[in-house]
Amino acid sequence: DDRIERIASTIRVIPNFPKPGIIFQDITTMLLDPKAFKDTIDLFVERYSEKGISVVAGIEARGFIFGPPIALAIGAKFVPLRKPGKLPGEVISEEYSLEYGTDKMEMHVGAVEAGERAVIIDDLIATGGTLCAAIKLLERVEAEVVECACVIELPELKGRERLGGKPLFVLIKSA
Ligand code: IMP
Repeated sequence: DDRIERIASTIRVIPNFPKPGIIFQDITTMLLDPKAFKDTIDLFVERYSEKGISVVAGIEARGFIFGPPIALAIGAKFVPLRKPGKLPGEVISEEYSLEYGTDKMEMHVGAVEAGERAVIIDDLIATGGTLCAAIKLLERVEAEVVECACVIELPELKGRERLGGKPLFVLIKSA
């Protein structure tokens, strides 16, 4: 698909952000290019239309950029998965490990019902810890996680292997 190469060319790479040694993939430059942004959304919409998906769950913060337009286009609900203390209602939470220490992800109780078919969206998968926590949250309420989807994968970090066999769909693989 020749859209993918164009999308990849709009992503900016920033060395040593947020810390020395990290090469940051910056999707904000893709958002400045309406065709690249639209092509990105369209590629996910083409994949998830007509699959009985009723939930698009987006991971804070950049999953909130890609998730809602996909949800609207396929006629699904959008469910934000947030950092701790941000959601005002009753939540369930899932702890996950970072390079240093741990973090938590939360989802509103009642947002997703048992048996719903869900796709989880984020901008990038690195070690897979974040998506793994998101899968657990959805599975705790007995949703069916059909697939995880990211714009970018860093395959060297083998995050895909941490998803417990869940399929992962990505547009771009980056070194
Ligand atoms: P993981 O849990 O190690 O897979 O890290 C993925 C999470 O960290 C995602 O929510 C990403 O948004 C964020 N992240 C890690 N590296 C980058 C990057 O280079 N660009 C943008 N986001 C990143």
